[in-house]
Formats: sequence, C-alpha cells, structure tokens
Amino acid sequence: MRNYKISIIKGDGIGPEIVDEAIKVLNAAAKKCNFELNYKEYLMGGIAIDTTGVPLPQETVDGVLNSDACLFGAIGGEKWDTLPRELRPETGLLKFREEMGVYANLRPAIIYDELVNASTLKPEVITGVDIMIVRELIGGIYFGKPRENDGFKAFNTMVYTKPEIVRIGKTAFELAMKRDKRVCSVDKANVLEVSQLWRDTMNELSKDYPEVTLSHMYVDNAAMQLVRNPKQFDVIVTGNIFGDILSDTASMVVGSIGLLPSASTGDKTAIYEPIHGSAPDIAGMGIANPLATIVSAAMMLRYSLNEEKAADLIEESIKSVLKDGYRTKDLAAYDAKEVLNTSAMGDVIVKY
Ligand code: ATP
Ligand code: MG
Repeated sequence: MRNYKISIIKGDGIGPEIVDEAIKVLNAAAKKCNFELNYKEYLMGGIAIDTTGVPLPQETVDGVLNSDACLFGAIGGEKWDTLPRELRPETGLLKFREEMGVYANLRPAIIYDELVNASTLKPEVITGVDIMIVRELIGGIYFGKPRENDGFKAFNTMVYTKPEIVRIGKTAFELAMKRDKRVCSVDKANVLEVSQLWRDTMNELSKDYPEVTLSHMYVDNAAMQLVRNPKQFDVIVTGNIFGDILSDTASMVVGSIGLLPSASTGDKTAIYEPIHGSAPDIAGMGIANPLATIVSAAMMLRYSLNEEKAADLIEESIKSVLKDGYRTKDLAAYDAKEVLNTSAMGDVIVKY
C-alpha cells in the first residue's frame, strides 16, 4: 500500500481545531483511495515557546525535512506579542520558510457557486472564477540586500537573478499545463530593470511550453483587472511584493478568509496551510471554519503526494456540502440551511 509521512504543525489559537478536521478528512480520503498516512506532530510558535523556550525547535525543522509533506495550522497570539522579536512566534515561521526553501507560494482563489454572494463583487462577475496566483516567496525586495534605514535615508533592493525567475516561472508553466494553459506574468517592466529581466526570462521560458499562452501585465493594471474581470485569469505568476498585494486582493474577490488555502513549495518539503492566522478571538469556541485547512490538505494530496483522485474527492465533497446549505458561522449569512460547528463541518465533509 502507498504510504506517506506527514508532518503536522497545529500551532496556536484555532490551529489545533482546524488541523484536526483536516486530518479527519484526509483519513477518510486515504481509506477510499487505498493509501496510508502516517502523522508526526511537531511544535512551532507560541506552544513551542511555552514548551521548549524557542519558537522553532530544531527538531521541528529536521522532522519536517524528513517528511513527505507538512500540514500547518496557524501560529501566534497576544500572549507572546511582548517577547523580543527573535523569540516571537512569527519570527519562527519566517525562519522556517527560509529553511524549507519554499520559493513558490501557490494561492488558489476559487469561487464556490453557492457562495457568490459572499464576494464584494456582482455574481455575474464572480461566477466561475478559478485563479492560481504563483508568488515568489523568498526573494525580491523583501529579502534583497543592501537594505538600510539610518533615520534620514532608507532603502531596500529589489533583486532577482535569472535562476530565481526561471524556477518560479517553471512552477507557473507546469501548473498551467494541468489547468487552462494560460499564464499571465505580472511585473512593472516599463519602469523597473528587475522587471525587464523578469519579463525577458518568462518569454524565453515560454518556448519550452508551446501549449501554454503567456501574457504580460503591469502590476497596477493587474490589480484593477482582478477586480474588474477576475475570470480573465488562469495562472498569475509574479514576484514577492506584487504577489503579496495581488493575492490579498484576490482573497477579497472570492469572499471569506476561512476558505482560502495555500501551498508553499520549493525543492524540499512543501508546507500546506490556510492563508488566515490563529484567530485568537474565536479560539476554543468551536466556530472556526476548517475549510481553508481542508482545501490545503487536498492541495497536499495533489501536489506533494500525487494522490489526485483523493484530492478531487475532497474538493467535490466540499462543493456538495456547500451546495446543500451547510455553513460555518462565518458563512452563515449566505443561504444557510444549517450552521455547523468546526467539528460537525469536518464530519459532514467526510460523510459526503
Ligand atoms: P496573522 O497575523 O496570523 O495572519 P491576523 O491578525 O491576520 O493573523 P487572523 O487570525 O487571520 O488574523 O483573523 C482575522 C479575523 O478573521 C479574525 O476575526 C478571525 O476570527 C477571523 N478568522 C480567521 N480565520 C478564520 C476561520 N478559519 N474561521 C472563521 N473566522 C476566521
Ligand atoms: Mg493576517
């Protein structure tokens, strides 16, 4: 039987509640598709600080590196906000991403037909939206050197090397091959040299993917187009800062934060997590929406384990559950037949 090692980081706040539901759903899918998942839990964030004194124990890094994929909940909370920066939960997370070399952050923005009213946009604009934003995650202006702020003058450096652009570009083209075969590369090539290299490199790379249509868009226009007509996009590939801004824009296009999954991938172990945080305000109340984490788990099956069928099953169950009017509290306003708590939502997805 196919057998996979999954590292689990539940984290803080609602992290444990939502990850437990994802594991429930994963187990059901594995059973139906005849493979086995072996979980090992590791500490990070506030709980790691309380238990071990540091936000990112070495054991966590080693354990995740030694697994086939990592499912991650969320970290952080007020309790640890007053610690020195190097001891904070968020510092541990950034270090973790760097150590894992996760250069590609995949953020699908999909609208569920049953939830079109959850968007700030009109139903006719939003129905059918299925976008994959591919954001470069460990380069660009967020990491470029030199960087400085001397109190009078401050600067950062936006830098990309050709190999960095090629590797994120490949991720985007490979994904497009499995989707609608369209890549839109977003840059600011009319102003920035780094964007010109980005654009030239994407053009070069596209010759290796003759079936994929490559287009280019300036980032200011892309922000407008995402809101004006999101359906025109299939895969969007862009650098760190532009991707940061555009993926947040896209998340509001499709509705609740409790729905949006992500995958951070590189050459080592990939990390799958909801885009939202640990939501301390609702932790322990049993009302968190587990869907973002469950969809992240489905992405893990699809992209890290190649268990496409199991991923399809999960995604289809979610659609059916929403179609039949089951909602968590954050979605209760949108044609709810029944409002479920976190655990009951996991149960109903398993049942479907
Ligand atoms: P971080 O800095 O870790 O991203 P944040 O400060 O952005 O955290 P979140 O934890 O993402 O905040 O929460 C933002 C708001 O969204 C909160 O009101 C929270 O309760 C709500 N929220 C987040 N995730 C969920 C979820 N899965 N289900 C329901 N509500 C959620
Ligand atoms: Mg946040």
